[in-house]
Amino acid sequence: MRKVLVVTVGIALLGLVTGCATEEGSKTKQAKVKPAAAPAKTPAAKAEPAKAEPGKPKPVIQYVDTPSGRWMIHDEDRPAPPVITPGTFSSTRRVGQPPSDAVVLFDGTEESVKNWTDTKGNPSKWIVNEGVLESVKGAGYIQTRQAFGSCQLHVEFATPEKVEGTSQGRGNSGVFLQGEFEVQVLDSYENKTYPDGQCAALYGRSVPLVNACRKPGEWQNYDIIYHSAIFKDGKIVRKPTFTVIQNGVLVQDHVTLEGGTQWNGPHAISAFRPIPDKGPIQLQDHGNPVRYRNIWIRPLHD
Ligand code: MG
Repeated sequence: MRKVLVVTVGIALLGLVTGCATEEGSKTKQAKVKPAAAPAKTPAAKAEPAKAEPGKPKPVIQYVDTPSGRWMIHDEDRPAPPVITPGTFSSTRRVGQPPSDAVVLFDGTEESVKNWTDTKGNPSKWIVNEGVLESVKGAGYIQTRQAFGSCQLHVEFATPEKVEGTSQGRGNSGVFLQGEFEVQVLDSYENKTYPDGQCAALYGRSVPLVNACRKPGEWQNYDIIYHSAIFKDGKIVRKPTFTVIQNGVLVQDHVTLEGGTQWNGPHAISAFRPIPDKGPIQLQDHGNPVRYRNIWIRPLHD
């Protein structure tokens, strides 16, 4: 009789564990979004005595402290993250869609061009043609009206199909985060230059892990995860970090910058310059007609 009872309890517990896994799967589909600021719970209100499997030590209930309160591990009442609609990927011919919670910076419309100005706040002189934004020699950098700190940034670009120039003079532009730190844009398809200045380099600071460039004229993309620099009293208290994926390939793996990315003469580096916590996204005019499309950003709270 005792043996039967032990076996029954064992099967029931196994069922619970199995059921847990199955339920977790179906729960994902029915997940409800709850306000992030849900009232904190006390462990005592929720804790249930843990049951031990026969012959095994009694499991210990684990808790995790979060901004929304203290929750048990695997707690169904813990606030779920917001539900968004993911975007679609671009192909060479077709432009993808941004995720539903992204701030669209340029989507090919005239309206979205108004998100950009020159560095003095005047309307941009870059060309917009067939939904594509093209840099114009001498027009200067353009930048977003809105300022951003940490973020996920998506940018698509194409260096000129007609190959002209060499090294840094070929398809040069750049994407600047916080109005300061450059992810290099360059035609690095069979174009020798110094590696810490080739396409996808953090200019002068970090060589990309691989050269994942497409041919001149072909659309490429950057997905950049950026954690911003923070300065206090003119001194840096948090250095910025970059993770960059180019054309689906990891090229900068959570790299911490140790200073600025500005050109400071041959073989010289530049120091950090104090900047506000948030700054514009900038695109560089380096004298070459580099094209951009489908630019969106998701600010991160850190
Ligand atoms: Mg550049």
